[in-house]
Amino acid sequence: MEKNWQNRQVLVLNQNYEPLIVTNAKKAIILVYGEKAEIVEKNERFICSIYVKIPLPSVVRLLRYIHAPKKHIMLSRRNIIKRDQHTCQYCGDTKGPFTVDHVIPKHRGGPDTWENLVCACVSCNMRKGNRLPEEVNMHLMKLPRRPNHLFQIQHIIGIPDVRWKPYLFLD
Ligand SMILES: [Zn+2]
Repeated sequence: MEKNWQNRQVLVLNQNYEPLIVTNAKKAIILVYGEKAEIVEKNERFICSIYVKIPLPSVVRLLRYIHAPKKHIMLSRRNIIKRDQHTCQYCGDTKGPFTVDHVIPKHRGGPDTWENLVCACVSCNMRKGNRLPEEVNMHLMKLPRRPNHLFQIQHIIGIPDVRWKPYLFLD
């Protein structure tokens, strides 16, 4: 039996198969044996005790739909760069190093928000300076937006298990 199996990450889907949260195997098994969830993807490993041999879950699905409040994703330099997939939003550079650019410059009233911050390479950031993109004939590759819940699991928590991919629309 695997050590530390309790801490293995398990993806929890809502009743409608929408990814909800990531929890640990111990909590997921409590959900399953409390008849609150079913196992939809198993790990290749088992948890054995004297009495039972239980497959370790990889993905579980709640049996009843829950209205979950949307999780807050922290606005940070790291998360802006992750949201923009390590790509300069002006020139498409993927090598970096990257900075975070205020689309509407700070001193012109641009706020610190998901909608006003983008990943930019050093040279684009220097070129743009304290101006608006259109003033220097620079264009954003896409409109910056607040990342959604799915993004959080895909990019911030990460995908520790390939069995999660179909449920995260990554297949
Ligand atoms: Zn650039």
